[in-house]
Amino acid sequence: MSADDSEMLKELRDAEMILVGIGEDMQYDWHTLTEDERFREIEDEIGGNGEHIWIIPFLQKMVLQQREDDRWSRAYSDLGRILAGRNYYIVSLCMDDLIYEARLNENRIVTPCGGFRKMQCDNNCSHTLSEIPSDAYEDVLRYYRRELSLNDLREPLCPVCGGKLRFNQLGVTRYAEEGYRERWSDYMKWLQGTVNKKLCVLELGVGLEYPSVIRFPFEKIVGYNLKAYLYRVHSVLYQIGEEIAGRGAAIRKDPIDFLKEICENEQYMLK
Ligand SMILES: [Zn+2]
Repeated sequence: MSADDSEMLKELRDAEMILVGIGEDMQYDWHTLTEDERFREIEDEIGGNGEHIWIIPFLQKMVLQQREDDRWSRAYSDLGRILAGRNYYIVSLCMDDLIYEARLNENRIVTPCGGFRKMQCDNNCSHTLSEIPSDAYEDVLRYYRRELSLNDLREPLCPVCGGKLRFNQLGVTRYAEEGYRERWSDYMKWLQGTVNKKLCVLELGVGLEYPSVIRFPFEKIVGYNLKAYLYRVHSVLYQIGEEIAGRGAAIRKDPIDFLKEICENEQYMLK
């Protein structure tokens, strides 16, 4: 980053509070799975709408857990360094749980689209979340390693109603919002505390998939709080409206590269 860029980061450096939004442009892209020969073989074996389709998210979880040092782990570790010691709150639309690897305070993170950490009944019959049944997960791993056949696998079911047990994430028949509600109310309380504070709003790869969760409300927050400043970082949808043009920077960049550049900026990191 140049000296100009360093000047550009001034708002982030001087802020009293930092609100971070993470969007679909930062979602893990599953390349390790789609490029994997065994995975393609499995897809052929189970077919597009077969009764074994439930094992796909288990394989996704496997990939998330087996990832080693990659661009996402570096990005989240960069974000952790940037936010260390600051007063922040993070809203992430990503369903890959990678934000929880950033060594940040989990009580200051809300992931309203869910992820792979808990399961729920597809009908949300009891409004509770459950742990991942380790035997079902282990069996899928063994099937992946060719130690079990497809017919040995049993789909985990809800102990209450017998419905399908699914990962607590957007896309299930009745999404259990219980998975994030408590953190969301923490977030709302935190937001109340930003009034009249020097607030930096940092949007990382937030597009228009669920604009009512991050993009529109963040614009509103910056619109109301005249001490607020918005950094909108996105490879394509980086534009900001005229209403906040004087208090925002539209940054056309891959958000992961942006985080790396901040960390490499000594003037910023030695603040
Ligand atoms: Zn149920």
